[in-house]
Amino acid sequence: MRLSIVDCRLSIGRGWVSALCLVAAALAPQVSFGLPNPCDFNPCLSGCPGRDCNPLCGGNACGSGCPNRCNAVACPTNALCDSSCGGNPCNPGCICWSDCPGTRCNPLCPGGNACASGCPSECDPIICPSSICDTHCHPDANCNPLCGGNLCNPGCNDCNFFLCPQDLCDLNCRPSAACDPLCGGNPCAPNCMTGCGCPANRCFNLEIDYMVDNDHSHKPNQAELDAVIQMFACRGWTLNIQISDAIPHYDLIKADPITCLDIFHYIGEDASFGRMKQLYANHAFEPGWHYAIFAHDYQLSVRAQIT
Ligand SMILES: [Zn+2]
Repeated sequence: MRLSIVDCRLSIGRGWVSALCLVAAALAPQVSFGLPNPCDFNPCLSGCPGRDCNPLCGGNACGSGCPNRCNAVACPTNALCDSSCGGNPCNPGCICWSDCPGTRCNPLCPGGNACASGCPSECDPIICPSSICDTHCHPDANCNPLCGGNLCNPGCNDCNFFLCPQDLCDLNCRPSAACDPLCGGNPCAPNCMTGCGCPANRCFNLEIDYMVDNDHSHKPNQAELDAVIQMFACRGWTLNIQISDAIPHYDLIKADPITCLDIFHYIGEDASFGRMKQLYANHAFEPGWHYAIFAHDYQLSVRAQIT
């Protein structure tokens, strides 16, 4: 129903028509009186309804609140990704959809950060290098010198005597430290079972590692061991032998190339006694213990030495 102001002006003087105009205006406030609606001619004018959803006006038919926003043909991405349209924001093809929890971790999305707290790559040291020093990601960060930590802090590299010599006197690492005079212990105390660190006990503990190749082994047999034990016994010494590890075979244990003499302290290469002792000796630092390798051969004129 549309009445114009002109119609009403014409009705002046006829009371019943004027009354009709007033009633019509009261019942239908949207009724316009004469002026044409500019949106009828140009729906793209500012303030016109539907303008923001009208592609012809530069609007977005798929925008929030637009009538076609869930239409699979007009707005396929909404239909696929928008949960209010029945879609799933984490579907493939919904990259950067804000409702998908992974979006905030996706560096390809605006504001996305793969290293943000809770993101799957948060603790990846390559994608998120700064996480290396984050104890939430790497509980051992306080062991990492790159993070200002120390390899020898409690719980770090525990009992690695080469890296952290102070662990030698840590009873958690080495219960026999209680018997080690270097740690303030008493090697002659009754509970020091080996007792070989006590000068009054005429005994040696000897750990033996032996080289093994594909086709032969240098492991000493019991008869050989018994013979050596017997020799010590004849001199009043007890020799406790522990046959320990099979170790890689080298044809020649190398001497120090500088002194040409020192074979037992040279650690410069894999085929050196010092390196093998580092790798394989189990009692290297314990008082009363000695270490031997039964090997194939060793270099130069040092063959008469004993460690
Ligand atoms: Zn051999």
